[in-house]
Amino acid sequence: MKFEDFPKEIQPLLMPNHQGRPVYRCLGCRQQHSIEKLLYTCPSCGKVLLIEDNNFSALLNISGDTWRRIFDYRRMLNIPALKGIYRYHEFIGPQIPLENIIYLGEAHTPLVEANAVLQKMAGGRFFYKNDGQNPSASFKDRGMASAFSYINYLLEQGFLKDVLAVCASTGDTSAAAALYASYLQPGVKSAVLLPHKKVTPQQLSQPLGSGAKVFEIPGVFDDCMKVVEALSEQYNVALLNSKNAWRILGQESYSYEIAQDFEYDMNHKVVVLPIGNAGNITAVLNGFLKFKAAGIIETLPKIIGVQSEHANPVYTYYSESDPKKRKFIPMRVKPSVAQAAMIGNPVSMPRVIYLVNQYNQRAGKQKVFMVEVSEQKIMDWQLKANRNGHIACTHGGESLAGMVKARKEGIIKQDETAIIDSTAHAIKFSGFQESYFQNNFSQEFKIFSNPDLINQPVFVKPQVLKAFPGQGRPLPEDEFKLFVKEVTKEIAMALHLKKESA
Ligand SMILES: *Cc1c(COP(=O)(O)O)cnc(C)c1O
Ligand SMILES: [Zn+2]
Repeated sequence: MKFEDFPKEIQPLLMPNHQGRPVYRCLGCRQQHSIEKLLYTCPSCGKVLLIEDNNFSALLNISGDTWRRIFDYRRMLNIPALKGIYRYHEFIGPQIPLENIIYLGEAHTPLVEANAVLQKMAGGRFFYKNDGQNPSASFKDRGMASAFSYINYLLEQGFLKDVLAVCASTGDTSAAAALYASYLQPGVKSAVLLPHKKVTPQQLSQPLGSGAKVFEIPGVFDDCMKVVEALSEQYNVALLNSKNAWRILGQESYSYEIAQDFEYDMNHKVVVLPIGNAGNITAVLNGFLKFKAAGIIETLPKIIGVQSEHANPVYTYYSESDPKKRKFIPMRVKPSVAQAAMIGNPVSMPRVIYLVNQYNQRAGKQKVFMVEVSEQKIMDWQLKANRNGHIACTHGGESLAGMVKARKEGIIKQDETAIIDSTAHAIKFSGFQESYFQNNFSQEFKIFSNPDLINQPVFVKPQVLKAFPGQGRPLPEDEFKLFVKEVTKEIAMALHLKKESA
């Protein structure tokens, strides 16, 4: 819709003009630091940071009702910079001018209600919010759009030049970082560190295709993370892991979109998501807290974090019911099909502890829960979802398995609707599906295939035929007719088809 066609009273608010004063806030010593420099940890105490707007209170001068209308009208605006995460510009990056925003089509991902068959199996009403439908096929694009828009802004301001963006990754972070960096040629180059053989071939192909320098390192993600931290401490590089608080800001858009998708009514809603490095749950919690503070939503939805039994440090921490006795212990992970969440020492753990506290306090009761699920359940639920119209990745399977478990445990009530995060696209993890269909998972996974869920291609090559067409070798007409006839017959037999009566 053209700008002048919007209602007169909304026009002045359509284009963002909130004077934000974002600062890094240390979660250790609470000190604040200027955002004019790229910081990952507190220069005073070394703890992780979150970005806070010191002028957040100015957002309260606009009523919740007006904010809701602003966001709803912005959906109709044809300005690329305001289409993705920055539809919520005032809440995500108020100091970033629209002309510095990098928009590659991220965010505004679809919300798809499960069909009746799947809802019945899973024990209640739910929707997938498909973050696999982002440009690099995972939610990581939300955070990268924020981090790279900020880097672009620093470049334009002359605060930075010749940026080398680096990250460690379980696959999707590097795909997203390499993609956004490649858009900013030639000022930004990227290098990514991956645990050798612990990312899928599809994920490996992504940063290679985007032209990043790719390093494979023995060990698991947690080992790569240590190397990348050392790199960012000793050399002049921009760290793009979720330690980077700009990533968190961008990922808050997931919560804002859910709120908007449900007409801002978060009553009886539950958001379910997998936890790896714990950046995403941090963002989701913070996003809902900010919308609640601004009066845009009235109720905080329940949040359920899901972990595999093979990588469950956050679950283990919260399984101690007495908060005073809780102690965080990093773990050595075992192989998981939810491979992008196979992390034993999540960087954002201090953020989680801080925000879970805030969230429950603000809600006046416990609203954040953790559940753990087996590898078997992750695969089974992923396959069941995808046999019913979804494109869930293994982590989407993990979320669904988590929802089923939470319903059984009474954490989710019958009258509550779940919104389930499929964090990436199924295609990225098709190797695990193949292992399932061939029933050849290595023992450590403890996954055994349910024959009802196995699916294999059928090779059709009728015995009676002597000649077959090949590339550049078409069959003579008679033989080709015979070929079509016999192949058709065999397929019809396999499908138990009946001949149409004339
Ligand atoms: C990164 C990632 C996760 C884990 O998210 P965190 O923010 O690290 O907790 C889950 N699923 C997919 C597909 C991912 O790429
Ligand atoms: Zn500090």
